[in-house]
Amino acid sequence: MSASGSITRLHGHTDSYYAASANPTPEYPCLEGEVTADVCIIGAGYTGLSSALHLAERGYKVVVLEAERVGWGASGRNGGHVGVGQRKGQEELEKMLGRDTARALWDMGLEAVQLVEHLINRHGIQCDLKRGIMHLAAKKSHEAELRQEVELLNQRYGYEDMRYANRDEVADLVGSDRFFGGQIDSGSLHLHPLNYALGLADAARAAGVLFFEHSRVTGYVSGSPCVVSTEHGRVSAANIVLACNGYLGKLEPRMAGRIMPINNFVLATEPLEEKLARELIANDYALQDTLFVINYWKLSGDNRLIFGGGENYSSRFPRDIRGFVRKYMLEVYPQLAGTQIDYGWGGTLAITMNRMPSIGRLEPNVYYSQGYSGHGVPTATFAGKILAEVIAGTEERFDILSRIPTPSFPGGTLLRWPGLVAGMLYYSLLDKLGR
Ligand SMILES: Cc1cc2nc3c(=O)[nH]c(=O)nc-3n(C[C@H](O)[C@H](O)[C@H](O)COP(=O)(O)OP(=O)(O)OC[C@H]3O[C@@H](n4cnc5c(N)ncnc54)[C@H](O)[C@@H]3O)c2cc1C
Repeated sequence: MSASGSITRLHGHTDSYYAASANPTPEYPCLEGEVTADVCIIGAGYTGLSSALHLAERGYKVVVLEAERVGWGASGRNGGHVGVGQRKGQEELEKMLGRDTARALWDMGLEAVQLVEHLINRHGIQCDLKRGIMHLAAKKSHEAELRQEVELLNQRYGYEDMRYANRDEVADLVGSDRFFGGQIDSGSLHLHPLNYALGLADAARAAGVLFFEHSRVTGYVSGSPCVVSTEHGRVSAANIVLACNGYLGKLEPRMAGRIMPINNFVLATEPLEEKLARELIANDYALQDTLFVINYWKLSGDNRLIFGGGENYSSRFPRDIRGFVRKYMLEVYPQLAGTQIDYGWGGTLAITMNRMPSIGRLEPNVYYSQGYSGHGVPTATFAGKILAEVIAGTEERFDILSRIPTPSFPGGTLLRWPGLVAGMLYYSLLDKLGR
């Protein structure tokens, strides 16, 4: 039994440590027949769950349709890092969008982390919430970039929760001499991602949201109302929110070309002795390095090392995910060569060309948010709140986000693969070559 909850794997989820340590949760029915709603949300990850909760709290009648189970997608499988800022650094954002918009995005990034913490506290969500993330320079050339970013955030953005740590301090904190320095950020958080998703769903249900699982949307017709179809039922709704992210498939081709689904992989070791756990991560922060294909890790509530490393761009996961991720873990922690790996799993996330989220409106009453590019725990939660704001008639912050250009991948959905795969493989080769 884990520190987080039940003893059996949550039925219908991938075979992950998170599903094995999930809090008890109801199984929702499959949609059968006709239902009406103010808003129909497609997808029950953080985007859909946060939209649903915020809309229900504003008095809307909300129906959520999920193809599998609540939290089945990336929201129930990820690294659980809840980082401040955006996926792209502030300096790049300033160059790309100007200082005012970059500042607004920084403020929203901070608010996103605060929102996650607020929702967890307000709804009493048991999800192993802890404070702190460290970013570690995996190459000598990355050290100066990390230091300069700390200076920029301290000075121009007034963010004082981050400081720079030199190589020796990092080695003491991380139990590995592989890194050249790092950022210590006490303003970020980390958590058990599936239990966070299940807690959001519980809160939304308590606020009146109707959930249907095993209810894949096969298509929709926009209009007044919109009609959303599943195999066995239909929802007539004044508004639709598309919240499918990396699992969108062919449901809405107008959004599909803006994102690229990629697969990322995670393992969980056996529970570690307290002494070893502290040797690996002295301050119990979540850690991530600066490689193009990021390695990220943290300790679970019961002292397992949860380590994410490696990705692929095909429709298949590696056959031996534990072995696939283990080699990345051993590069950081060779001392874990004899440690048992209890779980290995993968998930699909969506990235955009410029790694900024793709949020917008396809029709006057059809909204979407996707493409958080590996920064979705805070950003998808926040996007859900913004979608609720815009549906309720407040456009200001939705406008800032929806104006960020997120161009389509060249070649659209059919031809985006070869170019992207070549680019991704090139950069992951640079990781390996140490450049
Ligand atoms: C391995 C991995 C590690 C990651 N680590 C981190 C991290 O540490 N920190 C971070 O911030 N982000 C991380 N991310 C990214 C983060 O998990 C995602 O950005 C976030 O969960 C996206 O939430 P979402 O609700 O938009 O999508 P999802 O959680 O993927 O949910 C989409 C849902 O839509 C459903 N769906 C799809 N099509 C249909 C349909 N036709 N009908 C009904 N339902 C449908 C799916 O079944 C799915 O449940 C990681 C992602 C992965 C895969």
